[in-house]
Amino acid sequence: MTTLTRRQALAAAATLPLAAALPRPTLARAEMQGSALPPFHRFRLGSFEVTTLLAGTRSGDKPQETFGLNASAEDFATASAAAFLPADKTMTFFTPTLVNTGTELVLFDTGLSADGLGAALAAAGLAPEQVDVVVLTHMHGDHIGGLTTADGAAPFFPNARYVTGSVEHNHWSAAGNEGFDKNVRPLNEKTSFVEGGGSAAPGITAIEAFGHSPGHMAWMVESRGQHLAITADTANHHVWSLQFPDWEVRFDADKAAAAATRKQLFGMIAADRIPFISYHMPFPAVGYVEPKDAGFRLVPASYQMLLDG
Ligand SMILES: [Zn+2]
Repeated sequence: MTTLTRRQALAAAATLPLAAALPRPTLARAEMQGSALPPFHRFRLGSFEVTTLLAGTRSGDKPQETFGLNASAEDFATASAAAFLPADKTMTFFTPTLVNTGTELVLFDTGLSADGLGAALAAAGLAPEQVDVVVLTHMHGDHIGGLTTADGAAPFFPNARYVTGSVEHNHWSAAGNEGFDKNVRPLNEKTSFVEGGGSAAPGITAIEAFGHSPGHMAWMVESRGQHLAITADTANHHVWSLQFPDWEVRFDADKAAAAATRKQLFGMIAADRIPFISYHMPFPAVGYVEPKDAGFRLVPASYQMLLDG
């Protein structure tokens, strides 16, 4: 099928007698491929290697039903426009992170399903059997869905041990939720529990970041003096949450605690000028923050961490 652009159509019409006499031109063309993102992004941190895995995306409408519950529609629209974002649509990313410490391969969170995570892992050249440690930042479904194979029959990471916060685990052990009961509870005997300051592996330290969920944990990764924060769901949008930490988020269990945690954790990250990975922010989900007004401005990472040495 041949479709002419307006300019081509006009040109063709102007030269119709001649053009009609010539053989039909062959147009080199490729089919539209659709929007796409790379499934993984890898960089070095000291002697560690860090890979963010795009385990899935979701687009949605009516973002103010999730972010800025206590903001006016006008303020929400103004903030969105200033950031070149529509106020009536959004996209959420699901980004588990791998840290290869040289002695262990540590995975932070597992996405919605083993399918999504497995595809990103495979693209990055890795298999679930190679994961030594799975760290769970908290027990919401989009972080624990990939713990079990797609058919639900077995753990997706057959050789892994698990680490999570004791406050979070205790909460869901008592309260229960479908994903927890199916994916997390069966792993109890292979799971160790930490408080803030506890360790998942050498160089990987827990930070209490309560609020989004009762025992939500962020993590600090350190190698040879280089630091990287894994902030999980402390702030879930680079504008509607990071720039406005006091804006209420539907999924934050304790909204006041979540806001206080946002300000404290990102205040530290801004002051120390260290990079961070945020689970739901635009892929590859790596950046820095600087203080701005009452919140923070995201400075997406460019090539800083791709440089040798
Ligand atoms: Zn989440």
